[in-house]
Order: sequence, then structure tokens, then C-alpha cells
Amino acid sequence: MNLKYLLGYFLLPFCALFLNAQNQVFFKPPAGYAVTSTDLHIHTAFSDGSVWPNIRVDEALKEGLDLISITDHLEYQPHKEDIPHPDRNRSFDIAIDRASNSELTVIKGAEITRSMPPGHINAVFIKDANKLLFPDDAKAAIVEANNQGGFVFWNHPNWERQRPDGIARLDPLHKELIRENLLHGIEVANHTTFSEEALTLALDNNLTVLGTSDIHGLTTWEFKIPEGGHRPITFVLSEDSSNAAIKKALFQGNTMVWFKDLMIGKAALLSNIIQANLTASNISYHEDEIIGEVKLKNHAAAPLHLHYKGPYTFHEDSSVFIIPPYSEKILQIKTLTRKTRLELPFTLLNGIVGAKQYLNFSVSTP
Ligand SMILES: [Zn+2]
Ligand SMILES: [Zn+2]
Repeated sequence: MNLKYLLGYFLLPFCALFLNAQNQVFFKPPAGYAVTSTDLHIHTAFSDGSVWPNIRVDEALKEGLDLISITDHLEYQPHKEDIPHPDRNRSFDIAIDRASNSELTVIKGAEITRSMPPGHINAVFIKDANKLLFPDDAKAAIVEANNQGGFVFWNHPNWERQRPDGIARLDPLHKELIRENLLHGIEVANHTTFSEEALTLALDNNLTVLGTSDIHGLTTWEFKIPEGGHRPITFVLSEDSSNAAIKKALFQGNTMVWFKDLMIGKAALLSNIIQANLTASNISYHEDEIIGEVKLKNHAAAPLHLHYKGPYTFHEDSSVFIIPPYSEKILQIKTLTRKTRLELPFTLLNGIVGAKQYLNFSVSTP
């Protein structure tokens, strides 16, 4: 064994460890909360995906996710001749084995795969995917998922194959499922698509807002991760980071979706997260000037597209500017008189809180 080989042998595990960890959190949690990054819609070769479940775990670890669910189609099994398996929990078993001794949590899930209505429905936090097989009765599968304590949501309600106009809308069966409290969430972002109509449906019907990868190929290619892209991620805001607390928060609708540059969710929750991730320094003045200087810091992995809504003008910027991820920006504010404290009201132009509605919030200097 030569020295080079020896070094490689010992250093490799450390390098792997380093590569696996996203070294900064995506979003700082508001005080007293935990923020969990999740992807609850993922496929493997056990349905129509192209990869083995261990690759899904490795991708999630490399991308810094906290929790995933493998949700293979129960009824659509195009690789069955090559991978004959009687057990719909098998992809979960392989994934959770791979994730043992890692930071990643894997929860059991499945995709109930039907024509519209109801279309495709995901069930996560279930106990046994095999028991969801009801070939002739989609509602029976959804009821069984509920009986197992599962969190159930409507996948890609805007999918052009099932909604040729791309518009998410409720059919009578969806209304029935919502009325009977059998459907708890809806995807507003799926793979590369975003649906404002789905967000409206979520807000009008008190459904949890979700964004998922629905990955079939490799995330690194499909979401252009080397070029700075990312998969759609649902952040769950919970009392702590236990599975029980995360599940409870999902049912309560405490989620924010990060899709491309957009942060999408209910206004109060989005406001809570954004306030924790945009902070301001004290206001200071040079000796002979009355131009105040405030340093804004973006603690998040997302850029903040800000539109200042207050009365002042800036010395070096217009009222619209961007703070890139994990960056600081100094604002020179023409305050006319010397202030000891300042409140800065903003609209977050990439903070989506409804159809054509953007988050309004304020940042205060200490
Ligand atoms: Zn689907
Ligand atoms: Zn799917």
C-alpha cells in the first residue's frame, strides 16, 4: 500500500462527508421554530423512474434536504418485467436502509395513480403501501391512506395531460374529498411548473401548499444544479424537528414552497420566515451628512427581489433591487433628518401569497 493510496483511503470518507453537507441552511428558522426541507414526490425504478432508490437518498443528501418520501406509482409499473416485485414498500425499504446513519429522514409514501378525477394523489406518512391497492376504486385507496394516518395531497393539478388548458380546477370528487377531510394538500409547484390557480384552490379550501420535484431522471440534470439551480422544495415550519411535529405542521398547512426564485405560501407564514431571513443593521450617518446607511443581510438561499414602499429615496439605488442569496447590501437612505431607528416597508416581488399577490412586510433597524 503506497502513501498516495493510504492518503486517499483515509481522506475519502472526510471528503464525502464534506460534499454531502449543504454548509448553510436554506432558510434560518424563526425563533422558536424548526424549518425542515422536504421533497414529498419522488420516483424510482420501482415505478417509472430511471434510478435505484439509493440514488434518491444520495441526491437528497448532496442537495442538503432533511426529509424525503419515495412515492412510486402504485398502479403504473412499467419496469415490472425487469424488476418483478410483489411489494410496493420495497423502494422505501432500500431508501431507508441507505439513509441510516445519515442526516436524512425517509418517510413512507405512494402515488395513487388515476385518470382525472381525481388524477394523481400522493399519500405520505403511511404505514403500508400494499394496502392502498384498490384497482377499481380511487376513493377507497384515499380512505385507506387516511386510515393509516397518512397526509394526502393532489399532485400536479395543472398537468397538461389531464388538464389540457393547464388550469387547476376542482371536480366534484375533489370537493367531496375536501369536504370529508380526506385531501389535505395540493401541489402548487411540480417539477418545472407553477400553478397560480392551484395556489388559489389551496387558499380557498384550506389545503396545505406543496412544491415537489416529481423527479424521474436525475435531479442534477433536470434542475441544472451545477448552474445554481435547485429542485422545488417544501419547507415545513414546525415546533421542533421531530417527525411527529413535521407531520402535524403539514396537516396545519405550515409550509412554504421554494420554486426557482419564488417563495410561495400563505402570507402569515411567508412573512414569519422572511422576517427571520432579512435583517437590518443600525442606521448610521457620516459626520456632515444626513444620508443614513443601513446594511441589509439576506440569510437565505433564495435571492430577495425587494420593492421599497416607504417615503424615502435612496442615494445609490431605485426603490427596486435584489439582494442575492447569503449576501449583504448597503442602502444609503435620504432620511432628511437624522433618525435613530427606521422601519423599512417592502413588497417581496418573488414572495407569492396568492394569485398575482406579493408579500408585504417590514424590516426594522435595531
Ligand atoms: Zn403523477
Ligand atoms: Zn409522480
